[in-house]
This record gives sequence, C-alpha cells and structure tokens, in this order.
Amino acid sequence: MYYNENTIIYLNGEFVKAADARTGLYDQSLHYGYAVFEGIRAYKTQNGTQIFKAAEHYDRLKYSAEAILIPYEHSTQHLIDISYEVLAKNNFQDAYLRPLVFCPPNMKLQKSERSFIMIAAWEWDAYLGNKLLRVMTSSYQRPNPKAFKINAKVSGHYVNSILASQEAKDNGYDEALLLDGKDFVAEGPGANVFFEKNGKLFTPPAKNILPGITRATVIEICKELDIPVEEKYFTTDELKEADTAFFCGTAAEVIGWESLDNVKFAKPWNETVSKVIQEAYKCKVLQKNAPSISPEGGELKPLKLNGNSIKNVGEIKV
Ligand code: PMP
Repeated sequence: MYYNENTIIYLNGEFVKAADARTGLYDQSLHYGYAVFEGIRAYKTQNGTQIFKAAEHYDRLKYSAEAILIPYEHSTQHLIDISYEVLAKNNFQDAYLRPLVFCPPNMKLQKSERSFIMIAAWEWDAYLGNKLLRVMTSSYQRPNPKAFKINAKVSGHYVNSILASQEAKDNGYDEALLLDGKDFVAEGPGANVFFEKNGKLFTPPAKNILPGITRATVIEICKELDIPVEEKYFTTDELKEADTAFFCGTAAEVIGWESLDNVKFAKPWNETVSKVIQEAYKCKVLQKNAPSISPEGGELKPLKLNGNSIKNVGEIKV
C-alpha cells in the first residue's frame, strides 16, 4: 500500500528501490522509538508540484534530531532538493513525504554516534477524511513535557497517539482529543486544535503540544484575513460551548468537527469563520488565489461569512 516493486526512496545518500532497501532488527530506533520524522505534503499546483512549507519541515526535523541528541548533518536545502527528486522519480504530484532519521544497532540507553536518513513518498488522501468529525475526549493525556521533548517530532511519542486514536475508534468516534497534565485541551493524536467563538479563534499555547506548521499557517491566515486569534488554555467544557472547532495538521489539513463527546457545535460549519480558513488553507497549499471553488457548487463564488463576503480573502499571499 505504501510502495510497490517500482517505488524509489532515498536512503543514506542513494536512491534505491523501496522493495530492496533494508534496515536492521537490532536498530536502537526500532527497540526504543529513538528516531525523528516529518510528515510533509506535496501538491499539484498551477506552478507544478510544490512541497508546502518544505523548509519549515526540514528545519523541524533538524530541531527534533538535535533535541533528542541524534547526530544530524543534513542541510535543509539539500533535503528539499532530494524530496523533489523522490517525487519526480516516482512520478508523484499530490503526495505525502516521510523523512525518517533513525539510529543503528545499539541496545544501550545512550545516545547514538551515528544516524541514518530515509525519505519515502506515497500518494495519500486526506488523513482524517473530508466529513465533519465526531471527536472523543481521550482517557490518555499527552506525554508530560517534563518527560519528553514534546515539541519535537519523535517516533516514540506516537505510541501515545496510537492508543488515543484507537480508543476513539473503538468507541465509535472518528478521532481523539487529548488533554495535558492539568486537564486543559492539548491536541489531537496527529493534529492541533482550534475552536471558534463569536468570530474569534482560540488554540492552546505552544507549551504542552507539538506546535504544528499548519497551526502556524492558520494563525498566519487569521492575520491576513483580520480574524482575531488567541492562544490560551481552555477546558473541554469551554470547548463544548464553542460555535465550532477544527483539527489542523499537514496530513489532516483543516478539518471541522461535528461534535465533542456527542455534544454538537452551535453553528453549521458552512456559516463559520473556520470554514473560511479551511478554504484559505486550500488556496495557500494549491498556490491559488481565493475566492475558491465552493465545495457544494463547484462554481467560483466569493466566500461568504454571515452574509458578508470577506473582501480580503482574495489577497492571500502565497
Ligand atoms: N500534533 C501532533 C501530535 C502531530 O503529530 C502533528 C502532525 N505533525 C501536529 C500536531 C500538526 O503538525 P503539522 O501541522 O506540523 O503537521
């Protein structure tokens, strides 16, 4: 599903067939989750295939590796060039890129002296789908920031994400929402969270979360569109009083919620500022100028909010 006999990946300085690539059963990364990775999207745009915020992702990969003492000697620009080559060699345009930096055999609980790097790509649909999500407050908290480098994208952290996401699915929900150690809302298993109240957006501060590149893009869009946005701690009680809420992440993009713990949100998604942000995000990644194609109609029409068209939507800089 992720590769076939023709798929090419980049591994330690070479382009090789994914089917022929090998790694070791004794790798420290496999045993202890001691590895870092990225999730990056490439889009087919009118300007050709474009990797969205490539530099931000590879800068974060370096930050993550250094945060957990994994040797890292790659330049961001070199890895961006390689990523475009991986896409070209596989003939991909709309794709997901997965760089992984991992460590060789070592059973000791000590830092590694060496690291490996691979970059794979595959074609992938929206990670959380396109329909509004039914979200469940997880019984799992996000990892304690005093126990982990929580703002680094470390493989081992994702055991927490798998447990939370699976718990939500086993209970008939689409996705989980995890709290921090003080019972404030933190984030989803693989996405950040925003809620909207009276035309203003709120998101948790970058303390107990992985502060996503998409989260930063949403904040950027808010500034461009003059939509007020605030970072603050909040509880699920406050969230349930919201007009609407959404997850955002590289793979999830911007995806609205129908309900939290079966409590439905007050406003229909199509009447929210959040929906305008969802459209603006699509325009940004596709390097298009808003107004964009409406999801229902397929025809070009200005984005509407409370009956007033948002004038400056058309001025989004890409
Ligand atoms: N939080 C977690 C735990 C994630 O795994 C992700 C996905 N990388 C995000 C937030 C969103 O980050 P980004 O927007 O950079 O993809």
